[in-house]
Amino acid sequence: SAKRAGRGAFVTFHEQMRPNTNTQLLLEAELRAALAADQLTVHFQPIVHIPTSRVHGFEALVRWPRGGGMMSPAEFLPIAEETGLIVDVDRWVLREACRHMAAWRTTLPNTDQLTLSVNLSSQQFTRPDLVDAVRTALHASGFPAELLKVEITEGLVMERSDVVTTNIAGLKALGVGLHIDDFGTGYSSLGYLQRFDAQALKIDRSFMGGVEDRADSAELVRTITAMAHNLGLSVVAEGVETRAQLALLRSLGCEYAQGFLLSRPIPVQDVPALLERDTLLT
Ligand code: C2E
Ligand code: MG
Ligand code: MG
Ligand code: MG
Repeated sequence: SAKRAGRGAFVTFHEQMRPNTNTQLLLEAELRAALAADQLTVHFQPIVHIPTSRVHGFEALVRWPRGGGMMSPAEFLPIAEETGLIVDVDRWVLREACRHMAAWRTTLPNTDQLTLSVNLSSQQFTRPDLVDAVRTALHASGFPAELLKVEITEGLVMERSDVVTTNIAGLKALGVGLHIDDFGTGYSSLGYLQRFDAQALKIDRSFMGGVEDRADSAELVRTITAMAHNLGLSVVAEGVETRAQLALLRSLGCEYAQGFLLSRPIPVQDVPALLERDTLLT
């Protein structure tokens, strides 16, 4: 009984000192089970070509339907990253998104040029089987490699291990494009980006916020866009919420916009209706 009391005391101590540990373990187990049972889901957010106002493609964003609601990636991706589950989550999203995009290509008009952007954790890039996984997802779905864009954050750009370099070369050899996500939030210089051979840079949405009323925010967006163009990269602006932001981006020659002004991320079943609309601006 002394042993039992001791154990109980330990659990209490443990819970008080690290209140999140049990919750995290539960969440990890639940996420693992949800993944195995195909209970995650993918939402699609359109990326609009600014000069023509046409939908250029979609970014696939993972969602976890849980407890009657929808858990956002911000809530469960940290645990997935910590436990390595992120590798399986990303690959599940990749397969699922390719499958849906390939289906739309056969059932909906004017979809043959639509691109698909998927987010890959930097953990993927340290794994020797990344290129195989991407190739398999493409072959299984029939989605063209040239239309697939892999979004990676700046952090990875700084990492120059052999595996990372080999993976990046392997994806390029497949024809898959690399896009730098959340640009401006990390520390990478544009020189690194050039070596990395990316196709596009996504300006983080934190830069869009002050564009209307702060001259320096608009100036930052202008500078990033100009530098990207000088390096031969296209620019996608994230987090576009107002017409004024869109107008500025248009005047800067920024190619693509993504944000709530155009559309929130939407579930699979809403994509056909969105593609039927002449314009996403209402
Ligand atoms: P991200 O890749 O930068 O994706 C854009 C995020 O901004 C999405 O959040 C999207 O819903 C949100 N967003 C888009 N337009 C607007 C806007 O106008 N205003 C505001 N306030 N937000 C906007 P979400 O879906 O919650 O995803 C958050 C992050 O989680 C993503 O940021 C990405 O880094 C990560 N993520 C999502 N899905 C995956 C995935 O399958 N794998 C990995 N590794 N990461 C993912
Ligand atoms: Mg992204
Ligand atoms: Mg982003
Ligand atoms: Mg972002």
